[in-house]
Amino acid sequence: MTPSRIAARVRRIKPSPSTSAADRANELRRQGRSIVNLVVGEPDFDTPLHIRQAAAAAMDRGATRYTLMAGTVELRQAIVDKLRRENDLAYEMNEIIVTSGAKSAIYSAFSITLEPGDEVIVPAPYWVSYPDMVLASDGVPVTVACPESQGFKLSPAQLEAAITPRTRWLLINSPSNPTGAAYTHAEYRALADVLARHPHVLVMTDDIYEHIRFDGQPTAHLLQAAPELRDRTLVVNGVSKTYAMTGWRIGYVAGPRDLVAALDKLLSQSTGNCCSISQAAAAAALSGDQGFVAESVAVYKQRRDRTLALINAIPGLSCRSPDGAFYLYVNCAGTIGRTTPEGRTIAEDGDLVMYLLESEGVAVVAGTAYGLSPYFRLSIATSIDILEEGCARMARAISALR
Ligand code: PLP
Repeated sequence: MTPSRIAARVRRIKPSPSTSAADRANELRRQGRSIVNLVVGEPDFDTPLHIRQAAAAAMDRGATRYTLMAGTVELRQAIVDKLRRENDLAYEMNEIIVTSGAKSAIYSAFSITLEPGDEVIVPAPYWVSYPDMVLASDGVPVTVACPESQGFKLSPAQLEAAITPRTRWLLINSPSNPTGAAYTHAEYRALADVLARHPHVLVMTDDIYEHIRFDGQPTAHLLQAAPELRDRTLVVNGVSKTYAMTGWRIGYVAGPRDLVAALDKLLSQSTGNCCSISQAAAAAALSGDQGFVAESVAVYKQRRDRTLALINAIPGLSCRSPDGAFYLYVNCAGTIGRTTPEGRTIAEDGDLVMYLLESEGVAVVAGTAYGLSPYFRLSIATSIDILEEGCARMARAISALR
């Protein structure tokens, strides 16, 4: 047999399931089917005008060259100010590095720290990319199922049980994709008490959805509850979700200097600095008028409330109210074991997702992709009309099950 030209660490990973689900929906649409796409995980708003204008102004003043690897002084200062103002966290500019989206920040952080066989604790349900990023860095994802009965959150006892001498990272994403669950200050404190007994464990907080909150509460931060973890915590964030800037590709990391310096070294030999124009736009986003954030969150909240009511009215489905982010993680246990009009059994969430797509053209992502079944994720980053249409179709499809 010819040896593969592709390295084992890449053969180990799979393409993003949400991208595959979106591709399948688009293919059916090309074939002329009417499709309600509830897969996409990005804001459906345009980037606010003042941010786009800052990008245009940057181009006009010639900010089109290489920047410092870690990011422009203007942007890193805006990040330092943001962390102090919004999160009450104090960082120096040399503890910050700008990356091509939070995605690249997380992957690069694994690359600079994982030796083959090192473990990363990933509470499930998780963002689909985490386990594959760990695998692509020769690490071992240790997924810990956090059931709905505990609010989809990791308990201190589960954390204690998951830690081994090989544990390198604990990964926390709050509010979470896909469940929207957010940790409280007290919950963070309890996790920190466990971490105090295991000083070799680093912590990564993926804060990308911090501003998309529905209860008017600011999102708690691990480092506010446990400032003593600062020297072993990487704070990851970005502008994609808060400012509808997914295409601009700006994320960032704040953390201890040795980790940030290692990231700087790796990125300087791989991607180089992030787009200079996007950096100017991101600086304007973080430093400028914040009105868009509250306005978009109010719209997401209306959609959440409406969709949640419609989903919970469908016999066989139920959904816990998410604290934040823009997804519903729908429990479909009540459909498992039933039979479609064509005589196929719904044995798992993937079968239901396929049936919803084929029978009514509704595209959602199966819970298997997020590490906890039987569920499916639907995105509310789309109009109320589309959400209502999607729920009506789901109700019809599910009522036809026997
Ligand atoms: N982290 C989570 C939990 C996400 O859901 C996403 C995007 O879907 C990202 C990070 C990536 O964000 P970015 O666009 O900054 O790479």
